[in-house]
Amino acid sequence: MIPQQDCSPQDWQTQLRDVIRSGEELLQYLQLQAAQTGFSQLASQDFPLKVPRAFAQRMRKGDPADPLLRQVLASGRELLVAPGFGHDPVGETGDAIRQPGIIQKYHGRVLLILTGGCAINCRYCFRRHFPYQQHQQSHAEWLQALEQIAADSSITEVILSGGDPLLVSDGQIRQLLERLAGIPHVQRVRVHTRLPVVIPERVTPALLQTLGATPLDAVVVIHANHANELDSDVAAAMHRLRAAGVTVLNQAVLLAGVNDNAQTLVELSERLFQSGVLPYYLHLLDKVQGAAHFDVSTDRARTLHSAISAQLPGYLVPRLVRDIPGHAAKVSIASDATAGVTMEEAR
Ligand SMILES: *Cc1c(COP(=O)(O)O)cnc(C)c1O
Ligand code: SF4
Repeated sequence: MIPQQDCSPQDWQTQLRDVIRSGEELLQYLQLQAAQTGFSQLASQDFPLKVPRAFAQRMRKGDPADPLLRQVLASGRELLVAPGFGHDPVGETGDAIRQPGIIQKYHGRVLLILTGGCAINCRYCFRRHFPYQQHQQSHAEWLQALEQIAADSSITEVILSGGDPLLVSDGQIRQLLERLAGIPHVQRVRVHTRLPVVIPERVTPALLQTLGATPLDAVVVIHANHANELDSDVAAAMHRLRAAGVTVLNQAVLLAGVNDNAQTLVELSERLFQSGVLPYYLHLLDKVQGAAHFDVSTDRARTLHSAISAQLPGYLVPRLVRDIPGHAAKVSIASDATAGVTMEEAR
């Protein structure tokens, strides 16, 4: 059963063990019939359904079009093969890999893959095909990764990624940050995580202590796509991160049927700010096989971005970007900012 909201929350590990893994259970809880929603058991065999209960509690009961439900419910549309949607849309299995567990595509920043797992399985994610087995770290490989960072003085920022890096224990995060802080040219540590959104109890006192105590500048980039994901528990967790001195940013993905209208995007930015978080990126979908039904055309994305720019202060407008292999940074897609990118690439 889904616990009542007024019960004291369980710790994050307990919630993680108790995630919903059955479409039938999720739909029953939401008082929906499978036929209303397009749910497909077959699609969930490929990439399992996985939803923390704290996230399911924020869905509207009886609404098959709920924007949170659509992000996680395995749909028959995932089984359609769409031209242009592949298995490695962002070029992370080729040259970008320096060694298992380290990806570098951009100057000064390396991405450390701490784990392949996530607390939630988002249906639009390119991770559904990522070969994480090749990134399983032995202790020796970890030391090697840290040595590589230590040997390259151009690296000023280390991004902990995954999967979701906050699946690893507070003790491991603390050890890793201590090691990184010992490398003179590393100035910043950044954590890319959706866990504090889907299970806010992940922001533990020990994590706050570690992020607050590190001499590195600490940045946490969360991932929320809709204002309904940000309830008072999430806001409280974000304010605790802020109070510990952490800069908190959000990245969202523009998703058809979830957040592809201006009012929804405005509400997301406003709710983020109320929760202590600044919008950072609004990503165009990575063209991954199985996610074509979430795609929003580049023209429509530009129109939406102009519309929210006209309604919000500049600091609440996320940068509209696409990850295009071979570029020196995420490619800005909005209005006149596409200099240097062919129209073909931007599309
Ligand atoms: C997106 C990404 C980054 C971070 O890019 P920023 O523009 O600094 O947020 C770093 N490394 C890789 C491989 C990425 O895909
Ligand atoms: S990597 Fe992020 S988007 Fe992908 S499944 Fe995990 S939490 Fe969701």
